[in-house]
Amino acid sequence: MNEMREPLLQIENLSTHFHMFKGTVKAVDGVSFSLNQGEILGVVGESGSGKSVTSFSIIGLVDEPGEVKADKIIFDGKDLTALSEQDMMKIRGKDISMIFQDPMTSLNPLYTIGKQLEEVLLLHDKQMSKEARHARCVELLKMVGVPNAEERLKAYPHQFSGGMRQRVIIAIALAANPKLVIADEPTTALDVTIQAQILRLMKQLVREQGSSLILITHDLAVVSETVDRIIVMYCGKIVEEGTVDQVIHHPAHPYTKGLQDSVPKLRVQQARLDYIPGMVPSMFDLPSGCLFAPRCKYCTPECHRTFPEKHDLGGGHYVACIHALRDDESSMPGRDA
Ligand code: ADP
Ligand code: MG
Repeated sequence: MNEMREPLLQIENLSTHFHMFKGTVKAVDGVSFSLNQGEILGVVGESGSGKSVTSFSIIGLVDEPGEVKADKIIFDGKDLTALSEQDMMKIRGKDISMIFQDPMTSLNPLYTIGKQLEEVLLLHDKQMSKEARHARCVELLKMVGVPNAEERLKAYPHQFSGGMRQRVIIAIALAANPKLVIADEPTTALDVTIQAQILRLMKQLVREQGSSLILITHDLAVVSETVDRIIVMYCGKIVEEGTVDQVIHHPAHPYTKGLQDSVPKLRVQQARLDYIPGMVPSMFDLPSGCLFAPRCKYCTPECHRTFPEKHDLGGGHYVACIHALRDDESSMPGRDA
């Protein structure tokens, strides 16, 4: 029983820095979070906030000039920071699989869908008979809602629509029954209706398989209906963490609030979309103190001094903003929702 409560993934103090000619880019800086078995975690932030680098760091896919440091990356009881590249390769694709934004680059245009699905199955279960493999491929395609699965196995990637290709990618990602799926902007290239279908499908399938999911996106609307918990990243750091209700409905960080205001509200006529003023600072020239301070309308002189500690707002809700600590509601940006 106790064993079941162990988190599947536990990351402590992860920093991934790129040492460049111009200086050091702290793409990920002191990030800690954990993920429970069967949990769906959303990682949200504007482009360049370190979401992808975080996931590449977990699965050991950061190359030179990148340097990954972490006190701990525990996955399923194993410390990934101590594994050899060979052992990491076994974990990737089997225990952890990834889904990327562009399904065309994840599929090989020269091979049929069936061949590519079969390859994953072969990689992880060499004992499986040819017939059993074929049956499993058909089953997988059916599972992700590809019509005429038997026939479609013989088709090539370019013969599928964008949405259908992303379904195939999901089938490949789930083929080996991974414990963890990391989906990096999996629906960004798709139109809104298809996006919603694919997200619903992914959620349903990981729930059925009992897998955990990390869903990375720059779009707060994407996570709100799909995930259990959210972490918000800005310039390589986590600025807020909590449940969907806490982060979406009661955001405590001005950045989260800003992200939320920039989501177009359906059914509500808006003269103009709110957006967060200012730009993400250059990663070579990060401000001292709170990294969001230069763009923050609640900023006070103390915000420029030191990076705010992670404050516990209770119930698993954390925020790195000194103004969110105050009891006075009016000084708590975002508490007016
Ligand atoms: P996100 O996925 O949130 O859009 P990324 O994780 O891709 O952002 O990138 C975070 C930061 O790290 C960015 O400033 C990006 O330019 C930098 N970065 C990512 N990969 C590399 C690399 N291979 N070399 C140098 N800088 C990189
Ligand atoms: Mg990215």
